[in-house]
Amino acid sequence: MASRISGKTEVIGLFGFPISHSRSPVMQNSVFEAMSLDYVYVAFPVGLEKAAEAVRAIRVLNLRGANVTMPLKRAITHHLDRLSPAAELAGAVNVIVNDQGELSGHLTDGEGFMLSLADAGVDHKGGHMVILGAGGAGTAVAIQAAMDGVGGIALFNRRDDLFNEAARTVEKLNDRFDCSIHLFDLGDTNALATAIGSADILVNATPLGMEDNPDDMALPDVGLLRPDLVVCDLIYVPRETRLLKEAANKGCRTVSGLGMQLFQAAPAFRMWTGRDMPVELARQVLFEGAV
Ligand code: NAP
Repeated sequence: MASRISGKTEVIGLFGFPISHSRSPVMQNSVFEAMSLDYVYVAFPVGLEKAAEAVRAIRVLNLRGANVTMPLKRAITHHLDRLSPAAELAGAVNVIVNDQGELSGHLTDGEGFMLSLADAGVDHKGGHMVILGAGGAGTAVAIQAAMDGVGGIALFNRRDDLFNEAARTVEKLNDRFDCSIHLFDLGDTNALATAIGSADILVNATPLGMEDNPDDMALPDVGLLRPDLVVCDLIYVPRETRLLKEAANKGCRTVSGLGMQLFQAAPAFRMWTGRDMPVELARQVLFEGAV
């Protein structure tokens, strides 16, 4: 691969810490290679204290852009020239695009989730969604769902500092979009039962059920699941969480976090290269270890 790098090759970075485990460089470089695109994608370990310097490096070295991951997603917004509507609402970015020195920040996580729903054949228009967890991922999904025409969203979080922050985001979304959004305490089991009872799509956006604690689940009662509910988990390791297993047992259609991980890359790829990302090739590299 190194042989195709020339003096004209455009560089795209991946900033975050830790970063060496990421499969994004393999995926992006395989796609660039397959499409004969003159780009290279490189991971740079960047901690929180280096957010400003990393953005300065994009300008000085004229990188085409970057992906941004934890712990920089929020801190880096303060150093960019402009933010997309989703990034501005969330106060976080996962993509930076350098257009002749103007750096714009974008948040494609929610878009990735909505594209993964479409990929799974789920029609969300006018439907009702319940989201468990109002952290970075849950907020990104709520914002994009409101933008994309979901009719109503019930967002649940524990009543803590994040709850108060989520309340401010919900207020902005209700002002801006034709989508009715309500925030509830995750401990309010009656509100949860009522919301799920009239929902079309349930989304887990908490880390409960990740590989360290595979028996955990944010949903307190599997009796709330019905066969006509689409159940989604943003977690992608394990691929099938306990929530998804319980949902499949109840006859629900399930959508894992793998799709969101794949599809969040597509809008970024288009902004950097002007080309559509070949999703099937990216899927093979990312999930089946091709290459
Ligand atoms: P985050 O910003 O730290 O938010 C975590 C959320 O989970 C918060 O709402 C938090 O509420 C809640 N939570 C944590 N522990 C909890 C518990 N024991 N009981 C109830 N609620 C709890 O994290 P994030 O970035 O949003 O990530 C959330 C999940 O999404 C992770 O599993 C991550 O792997 C996944 N994710 C997937 C993708 C993808 O591409 N598929 C992308 C991003 C994230 P409190 O504030 O009350 O703790």
